[in-house]
Order: sequence, then structure tokens, then C-alpha cells
Amino acid sequence: MKIYLSGKLVDKEQAVVSVFDHGLLYGDGVFEGIRVYSGRIFLLKEHIERIYESAKAIRLEIPLTPAELTQAVKETVAANNITDGYVRLIVTRGAGSLGLDIRRTSNPQTIIIADTITLYPREIYENGMNLITASTIRNHPGALSARIKSLNYLNNILAKIEGTDAGTVEALMMNHKGEVAECTGDNIFIIKNGVLKTPSADAGILEGITRNAVLQLAREAGIPTQETTLIRHDLYVADEMFLTGTAAEVVPVVSLDGRQIGDGKPGTLTLRLLGLFHEFTRRAD
Ligand code: PMP
Repeated sequence: MKIYLSGKLVDKEQAVVSVFDHGLLYGDGVFEGIRVYSGRIFLLKEHIERIYESAKAIRLEIPLTPAELTQAVKETVAANNITDGYVRLIVTRGAGSLGLDIRRTSNPQTIIIADTITLYPREIYENGMNLITASTIRNHPGALSARIKSLNYLNNILAKIEGTDAGTVEALMMNHKGEVAECTGDNIFIIKNGVLKTPSADAGILEGITRNAVLQLAREAGIPTQETTLIRHDLYVADEMFLTGTAAEVVPVVSLDGRQIGDGKPGTLTLRLLGLFHEFTRRAD
């Protein structure tokens, strides 16, 4: 496996960064997860835009232009002969001293890993996923905006552990106002009376690229959409529920906190959107 590391493609064993890198010491850095479908890098432009926004928000200057970074991703995918897989793009703050001061760091590291992907088990796509609500809330946006895809995922990891303990593969997180935010690595949608609803970007969520694509596909298909405040009650009484994410794609949800959602089977509109999304992955890049 060849890894892109700050300008070079190196063997996996040679792909090492300093133990003084603030990415490791403080989770100081940003990343993206990107899909490759049939040799095309899916929505690469959107992911490149988001990583530059995340970097800007944490005052990290990516040492490449967007065009150079795009090219580096393409080269890494090609060097590893990945036709269907997953790319992890990371930019760290770089090595520094043992202190938070970013002025004492240098050489932000750009890392690109192109690999195959492990999906949720097939059974989950066929029969639907069970979810629980985590007691860990999403980061308060006044402390750290969830729109920054940063290397610090502790908030979500703690919620994910709650899910694992309860026997689920994902967990729902509320925001500091007690509203529905998102799951630990996926955005959430419901369908109620034919309307597709999802928390708005200001609910303190990562504005998922898959989320935005699904909203767009729904609009094109004439399905009414709402980006709105949702509370847990809305979820419990929803007709259908599903999650979206780069790795997850579109996953039906059939129970939340032990309560059945809709008729307890992946919903009709969910399956239609899943079909539209798969079709989109075959034509978009
Ligand atoms: N929310 C969180 C917290 C995430 O980490 C992710 C990405 N794994 C998503 C939502 C989904 O975003 P995207 O569709 O851009 O992958």
C-alpha cells in the first residue's frame, strides 16, 4: 500500500509522523473521508472545499493549493489501484513543542490513505438498524463547531461507546438545547407524512456531504424537504428514519431506544432514496 505523505508516495511502513505532531498531541488537525466508486472519486470537489473550510476555521494553512490536493488524492487512488474504496485525507498541525502554541509548530503534514472499505453488515441495509440515544451530547457549538471535521472525535467516540454497550452500531446525539443533532458518524433523517426532514446545519451538526446530496436528490424527485428543528418525539412518531454518511451511504433505521419506527421495516421512501443515491454514485464525480 502506498501512502501520500507530504508530497511523496511512500510505503505504508515508511508513512510515519513525529510524536510531537500536534495532530497526535492535541487532535489538532482536520480530515475527510471520501468514497471511490467505479474508479471515480465521489464528490471530491465538495470534500476538498470542506477540508479547506475546516482548516480555515482552526486557522490551519494547508500547505497545498486545492488543485494540488485534488491531484494528490487522485494520484494516491491510482497508485493503489483502488476502483471501489475509501480515501482518508488528513492534514495535521505539524510537529511542535509540548504546548498548545501553534506558532511553535511547523510543517503541517498532509496524509492520504486509499483503502478498501468495511461497511455496516449487509443485514443492516436489508432489515434496518437499531439505534439508541446517547447521554453524551454533541459538542456545544460555542465551544467547538461541529461543522469543523477535526481530528478530535472524543465527543462522538464517547457516544459511540454508549451505543456499543447497548448493542447498537450507531448512537443518536442531541445538541445542547436537547434537540436532535446527528449520530456519531452519520446524519439523521426522518419521513413524516411524505415530508423528508433533517436537522438544519445550525443544530450543531456536521453538514454531511451525503446529507446534502440526499436532500438534492429528494428535491429533484419532487419529495418535499425540510431542514428544521427536530426533537426526540418527532423521531419516535416518524413514519420512516434513515442515516446518511460517506461510509454508510443511506441506512434505514427501524428502532430508536427500543421503540419501533414506522412499521419496523425499512420505509418505502427510504428505499426509494437509497436507490436514487446508488444511481447518483454511478454518475457523479
Ligand atoms: N456526522 C459526523 C459526525 C460525521 O463524522 C460524518 C462523516 N463520517 C457525517 C455526519 C456524515 O458526513 P458525510 O456525508 O460528509 O460523510
